[in-house]
Amino acid sequence: MRLKEYRKKRQFHVTPEPRGAGNVREKGKESLIYVVQKHMASHLHYDFRLEWRGVLLSWAVPKGPSLDPGVKRLATQTEDHPVEYANFEGIIPEGQYGAGTVMLWDRGTWQPETPDVDASLQKGEMKFTLYGKKLQGSWVLVRIRGFGSNPTRPNWLLIKHRDQYASTKNVTQEEPRSVTSHRLLVDIARDEGGDIAKASMGDSADEARRTTTAKSARGRIERKRQP
Ligand code: MN
Repeated sequence: MRLKEYRKKRQFHVTPEPRGAGNVREKGKESLIYVVQKHMASHLHYDFRLEWRGVLLSWAVPKGPSLDPGVKRLATQTEDHPVEYANFEGIIPEGQYGAGTVMLWDRGTWQPETPDVDASLQKGEMKFTLYGKKLQGSWVLVRIRGFGSNPTRPNWLLIKHRDQYASTKNVTQEEPRSVTSHRLLVDIARDEGGDIAKASMGDSADEARRTTTAKSARGRIERKRQP
């Protein structure tokens, strides 16, 4: 009953999100699903999901993943999702849990780098390899404890390991479109009857961060130039 919390939060006669069939693991299927959904709900975030034991383990990453090994991204664990959710791109209706626009931002497969995934999750440090279109190579999720942390919503950090896929490229800003439909959030909202103004705020949130980053980088350079 790992989908109990997921199902309790949603009304499936209203939202187009999948209810989840339960055990849908195909016989002989070796690869595990990896997906990141860009989700403009009350706030923009990136839902990072890894298939494990018939569900998608899920983390909400407010700033999205970073390819820079020096950057640690907060990832708050959320309820397990059905594996069918890995195909969902569209609109969650107003009044429903997570109301807003969902984009399939990246998708592929993943492999654990540890022999015992359950033990690693329990321990709070899991190393894995991603085979996505935008995210690849070696990563780690590390659970953190701290003031204000909610025991049902543990906080983790999502960190890129140093390898050939590590980079300072700002992947969320430079690759803002859906990996499957190549749409922006605003396109998805327009096509599927969502809130266009709110969706476009999600698209421009990445733009705003780019401007801020460029400005502070310039500021640093200018300060350095001063005698
Ligand atoms: Mn979400």
